[in-house]
Amino acid sequence: MPSVFIKTYGCQMNERDSEAVAAQLVAKGYRLAPSEHVADVVLLNTCSVRDNAEQKAINKMENIAGDIRKHRPNVVLGFLGCMAQSRGQELIDRLPDVDLVLGTQKFHRTAEYLDDLLAGKRAKVVDVAEEQGSEGTIREHLLNGNAQKSVTAFVSIMQGCNQYCTFCIVPYTRGEERSRTIEDIVGECRQLVSQGIKEITLLGQIVTSYGRRGSVRHVTPRADEPTPDPSEEGSEPRGARPQFPSLEGSGVGSSLRPAKTTFVQLIEAVHEIEGLERIRFTSPHPKGYGDDLVEAYARLPKLAESAHLPVQSGSDRVLKLMHRGYTRARYVEIIRKLRTARLGIGITSDIIVGFPGETEADFEETLSLCREVEFDNAYLFKYSQRKDTPAAAMPDQLPEDVIEDRHARLLSLINEIGKRKYNEFVGRQMQILVEGPSKRNPARMSGRSRCNKIVLFDGSERHRGQLLDVRITRAGLFTLYGDPAIVNL
Ligand code: SAM
Repeated sequence: MPSVFIKTYGCQMNERDSEAVAAQLVAKGYRLAPSEHVADVVLLNTCSVRDNAEQKAINKMENIAGDIRKHRPNVVLGFLGCMAQSRGQELIDRLPDVDLVLGTQKFHRTAEYLDDLLAGKRAKVVDVAEEQGSEGTIREHLLNGNAQKSVTAFVSIMQGCNQYCTFCIVPYTRGEERSRTIEDIVGECRQLVSQGIKEITLLGQIVTSYGRRGSVRHVTPRADEPTPDPSEEGSEPRGARPQFPSLEGSGVGSSLRPAKTTFVQLIEAVHEIEGLERIRFTSPHPKGYGDDLVEAYARLPKLAESAHLPVQSGSDRVLKLMHRGYTRARYVEIIRKLRTARLGIGITSDIIVGFPGETEADFEETLSLCREVEFDNAYLFKYSQRKDTPAAAMPDQLPEDVIEDRHARLLSLINEIGKRKYNEFVGRQMQILVEGPSKRNPARMSGRSRCNKIVLFDGSERHRGQLLDVRITRAGLFTLYGDPAIVNL
């Protein structure tokens, strides 16, 4: 049977899509190749969020076409995912060696199209159409990659995005929000747990919008309990939120339960799975952190104490231009509530520097927000103009050197805060889930704390999958080093 090599660019959702495609191909008899140099099929699963991700994939394909194809003319070359969706036929016009272009709603058709291309039944395939029900097609897993068992898994709960942030191409590449049913997702999670998975990350473009469209509700709300969805708010946050009892003063986790969003209902349903140790989710939107989700952190022990809240900017003026739907004050308030609900919760974020019209004063607001919130870590993105997005047409696009300078200043602040926060763990005891050997140094084992810190220690394969108490002996940049032996004495 033919062998296939898949290279993935971009986010965890793309990683997950590639895993599902690989698992589907393996189920059809394909073998997974260790590199493009020995594969019969080379697929690049692409990212469009920034221009340089697109350029990297195009350059890679040019090199593969120029090099590998020369010696092995029958190799099938394909683009999958976001850039395939947004560029379609244009990719084949530009790179005629490419045989396959498959959009974001067509991953599950990869095997069928490859079979046809390999058998010579078709010369080229471009399929970027919408497909109803495609949100339920990313479900197969490869749990035994490299003959080693995984202990963590990602589960795709929805596809698409309806947020339309002015900088972002995702609603155009991933389509409208579509959610799988709770039963379907829980079924997949149960199956994973029965195969040894201990930690599940629920995955979607904006998971906090889960179930807003379509009928996926699992729990019937009480007649006296309205089920407003905090993420249904318009782009301008409302001052008063009368539908939820305030957590303030009443103590988080009090018997006054706020009404529940479908997303919280999903977390509760997954939480019931016996044998599952930890639940995480990504990526949420700050608008989705209603009191019900904050309260879930206080109430559901399997919900690991870490939250990724993409803030994008600390300036209210820029947040409005970005169409983010919250203010800095509201964002800080959510963080305060989360830290009250769950002590020691790890908070990370995404920040864009150099959004069109961002002034030095706006940027200073971002710096001051980072000092105020003290993120454990943040992913920094240099603003990239994306085709057909409103921000691409905004005046005052910033010059490269200004963006570079601000990026460097923010990175240095994030590293400084991270260093301080990571150092605070030295001497403390933490529970980690051991995932396997460290990627950088396979002689060490790597685990993850509940608050989402990577912890390396001198262990062995027998530790894989264990929940281990370790004492932190030192901190590196965004990495902790631990010693399980000290605890076991
Ligand atoms: N759920 C996330 C949110 O709340 O916005 C969106 C995930 S997005 C795929 C990952 C990150 O890419 C965003 O949070 C944003 O920081 C960054 N990003 C998106 N569009 C960008 C652009 N045009 N330029 C630079 N960074 C961008």
